[in-house]
Amino acid sequence: MAEQEEKFTSLESLGEFGLIDHLTQNFPLRNASSIKGIGDDCAVIENLSGQTVISTDALVEGVHFDLTYVPPRHLGYKAVIVNLSDVYAMNAMPKQILVTMAVSNRFGVEFLNELYEGMRLACEEHEVDLIGGDTTSSYSGLMLSLTVIGEAEEADITYRSGAKKNDLIVVSGDLGAAYLGLQLLEREKAVFKEDPNMQPQLKGYEYLLQRQLRPEARRDIPEILKGLDVKPTSMIDISDGLSSEILHLCKHSKVGAKLFEDKIPIDPKVYEVCEEFNLTTTTVALNGGEDYELLFTIDLSDHDKIKANPNLTVIGHISDESDGAQLVTRDGQFMPLTAQGWNAMTED
Ligand code: ADP
Ligand code: MG
Repeated sequence: MAEQEEKFTSLESLGEFGLIDHLTQNFPLRNASSIKGIGDDCAVIENLSGQTVISTDALVEGVHFDLTYVPPRHLGYKAVIVNLSDVYAMNAMPKQILVTMAVSNRFGVEFLNELYEGMRLACEEHEVDLIGGDTTSSYSGLMLSLTVIGEAEEADITYRSGAKKNDLIVVSGDLGAAYLGLQLLEREKAVFKEDPNMQPQLKGYEYLLQRQLRPEARRDIPEILKGLDVKPTSMIDISDGLSSEILHLCKHSKVGAKLFEDKIPIDPKVYEVCEEFNLTTTTVALNGGEDYELLFTIDLSDHDKIKANPNLTVIGHISDESDGAQLVTRDGQFMPLTAQGWNAMTED
């Protein structure tokens, strides 16, 4: 929605190697395990101790992001954050990333500068080293694929499969805001299409927009848990929505779950905007995605250690597999949780 023609430097003018050098010049290596970063046929990592966790995620223009309202700096930041979130969900610490990008000649150097500035910020905040990647052209649009490498002691790594009956279900932060942020952006995009002179009406919605455009990965949670001497029995990050993630934990751990509607942490702004959009708050919290909070289970005996922490909310407990995963509503009814995903969200 830019009003003026911005400066455009074609990618060809730098050439592939010039472009890579240019984009990656402000990425220092911080971690002792990063022996060799960008510049050779391979990066080299030293295995210092424990085990290595690795994950990769692709982001495709038009599928995962819409550049009409996502600024490239936010996109770069978020692309790194969503990968780091997977590492924290293993109770591990991220150390290195690799970035593969397919980019069409529609994009200029200025756009990629912003994209890499967002990635640089996320790397700095999370003490992660960019150690390589690949750059290729594309006929249509932008595709990013990020790989993250992390480490943890074997005993600390937390899988989806460890939840046991009577464990408490805990979530960090609050839920539903990122989904509403996306609804707001989509609404403004539709208005803008109708009348390009309309100014976006986004004042007062900062928290929701920030949760959508500039999400945070919960590095603090593995650290807090370690400090409290709590090892989660299972953990997952909330990318697709609480309901779907609880079902993943139940499936992998072969257990059931009871989730209490009145315990789900929701920001007051989410209540307010749900009303505006005629959406049910619980539905948004259960099925809206992209909150990147951590969902985990702990042994009942660890409850005292976590209960005073304002970052953490107990929202339910693990039960027998035969019970299934259920939501206990405010009026005491039991409803099966379903993995709607967020495309299936409907007004009611
Ligand atoms: P090769 O031909 O051996 O694949 P490249 O010319 O593709 O090497 O890459 C040169 C160096 O730049 C390598 O270290 C590679 O990891 C790194 N690199 C390439 N593209 C990117 C990118 N988009 N982001 C970060 N590093 C990159
Ligand atoms: Mg290459």
